[in-house]
Amino acid sequence: MQVLKFGGSSVADATNISRVLDIVAKAAMRDRVILVCSAISGCTDALLEIGRSEGAVRDTLIESLRERHRRIIVRLFTGAERESAFAENDALFEELRKAPADECVTFGELFSTKIIARKLACEAVSTKWLDSRILVIKDNKELTYNNISAAVALEPSVRVFVAPGFIASEYDGKRTTLGRGGSDLSAALYAAASKASRLEIWTDVPGIMTANPKLVPAARTIPEMSWQAAADMAEHGAKVLYAPTVIPARDADIPIHILNTFEPSHPGTTVCSVSGKETGEWMGVTSIDDGLKGESLICLVADGPIAGESACGRVEDCFKKAGIRTLGLSSDGTNVYASVRLAVAGQALAAIHREFFEQTSQTVTDLYIAGYGAVGKAFAEILSQTSASLAQRTGRILRIAGISDSRHYVILPEGIDPSDIPALLEKGLPAAGGAFFDVVAGTAPRRSVFVDVTSSTDIFRHYLPLLRSGVNIVSSNRRAFSVPFVDYSALHAAAQENGVFLRYETTVGSALPVLESIAAGANTGDELISIEAVVSCTLNRILTEYTLTPDSFAGIVRKAQAEGLTEADPREDLSGREALRKLLILAREAGVPLEEEDVELDSLIGPEYFGIPLEDFYRKLEAAEPEFRAKEDAADAAGQRQRFVASLTKDEAAPHGYKAVIRVQNVGREHPAYWLKGTENAIIIRSVYHPYPLLIQGPGEGAKIAAASVLNDILR
Ligand code: ASP
Ligand code: MG
Repeated sequence: MQVLKFGGSSVADATNISRVLDIVAKAAMRDRVILVCSAISGCTDALLEIGRSEGAVRDTLIESLRERHRRIIVRLFTGAERESAFAENDALFEELRKAPADECVTFGELFSTKIIARKLACEAVSTKWLDSRILVIKDNKELTYNNISAAVALEPSVRVFVAPGFIASEYDGKRTTLGRGGSDLSAALYAAASKASRLEIWTDVPGIMTANPKLVPAARTIPEMSWQAAADMAEHGAKVLYAPTVIPARDADIPIHILNTFEPSHPGTTVCSVSGKETGEWMGVTSIDDGLKGESLICLVADGPIAGESACGRVEDCFKKAGIRTLGLSSDGTNVYASVRLAVAGQALAAIHREFFEQTSQTVTDLYIAGYGAVGKAFAEILSQTSASLAQRTGRILRIAGISDSRHYVILPEGIDPSDIPALLEKGLPAAGGAFFDVVAGTAPRRSVFVDVTSSTDIFRHYLPLLRSGVNIVSSNRRAFSVPFVDYSALHAAAQENGVFLRYETTVGSALPVLESIAAGANTGDELISIEAVVSCTLNRILTEYTLTPDSFAGIVRKAQAEGLTEADPREDLSGREALRKLLILAREAGVPLEEEDVELDSLIGPEYFGIPLEDFYRKLEAAEPEFRAKEDAADAAGQRQRFVASLTKDEAAPHGYKAVIRVQNVGREHPAYWLKGTENAIIIRSVYHPYPLLIQGPGEGAKIAAASVLNDILR
């Protein structure tokens, strides 16, 4: 025996009833069938209304319901059969007219099943209508099962029994119902009583879904779930199944197949004893609205035990992200309960569904990192701290597939845990002769990102083969971009030809969005008038401190060196070479093919300071203190400050139409650089689009900031 139950929308009209009969006919070829049906959709509500009304209103309601059924009869039957169907239907409506108010609701399933049973009989199926009012005794399973099994046993030749769902009797014979949605329970009782091998609940959605698809369009069918999870979903608001149905089915161990009348080939949901669930698997999210309190109680159902606390945290986080306030949040170890204001219930369901049930597609990007100094270490640390939230926010997973320091390298395509880097490098392969670059260029998957956080001079030579192998490059190494312009432009050409990116925002002003802003101007037809860049952290620090303290210039340089703020030889900074590199990069980004020799560079110190031992240099600097102090005093007397400024200014007479100068300038309070503190940077861009200059100012130093900027270039 098998039990098939069809809900109200499945039998709503003649067309749908025909679908039902097709499904039943196929099932009946397999085995005998008990067909349990609901009243036609809307009928039970109408009957409740009839029970509450009187007089003419009642008559009108009854008449319109009778009309709906007559229309179905007209479509399904012809000739004498139609007349008998009318007569049978009319007789039931006559009974309804006389019925006591509280019994009206029991007629709907009589109307529908009488029509369906007749239709089956017309099609020469041996059919018998079963009176659920006699067989199903409310709250008395034993009696119910005896009644049903006896009724079925009495009719061995019947192929399809047709039984009304929902209705039953009290023990004393009074007509009653099994509660709203109770036809599902009727079906489970018929199934258990007849020891059915199969119980199918046919409805208008493809099974139990991860959420109500009317509220959450992304909801999808749950293929299989346990009795408990199905009961939980039903109890907490999933309308597809009447919660008490689960118990008789589970006790008789008859799986419930929930199927869609309008898509019969869909496998739907099977509710059964799913074994071996050790940890909870998220099943679905339901809600019950409480109109009086103006709240909605949302339930996130799992199959099996869950870590309640972390699940609550996850719900809270996804609500926060969606801007939803939680009125209450708890877990009982299998489910999570959250209450929210009714007005935001839809958004709350969608947010939970997105977080727990929608697989956002994630892309993995392999990173190959050259350099494990201050910036490299900070980068690895940021990555290990943020990768989870990054994946969540952007759907991107960044995986370190290889790393090298100056001595060793290691490549692990399955990914390197940042905390393992020091140990792995220690026993890594020798990096001498550019081995790391060769291996990366030869083996890295296309679209990987090569990250250069070294300050090595000749590394740019390795960029070309990488770019040609389809590897993107992100670099904080300004030496790679202050090479002769032909080499610089060859890099860009290779990137373009191979469809990869070459990004180095960090090379000027660290994390400040300098190159981006200049490129934006060049790309959108803006005409650059000038750039003033106060971008040497070391010199900014030395000059600002010289103003503020009585220390000698040499003393301040010495201190900066001791703090690691200067290059190994501080003359590298004082010479302005670092500023020169930055100016070349700035100009080239603006489309000006500036070369080193085009730049007029006025160092802080003359040529006599170079080519001598460091101690001699310091002694010489100490001796020149009066000169340094005189310049400082002169600036101070004029209400100005000394700043080391690299500038590029439109000038028709200059080689590329722009004059490039690097020197100490005295700037007054009207100049943004006057206000710089410590290692702060400022870049002032004047262009035709910006009648007031674009000022980019902020921290220009620090390994963490640089690492964050590199990461940002990768993600951009
Ligand atoms: N017709 C009843 C109701 O609407 C029973 C059912 O459809 O399950 O509640
Ligand atoms: Mg139902």
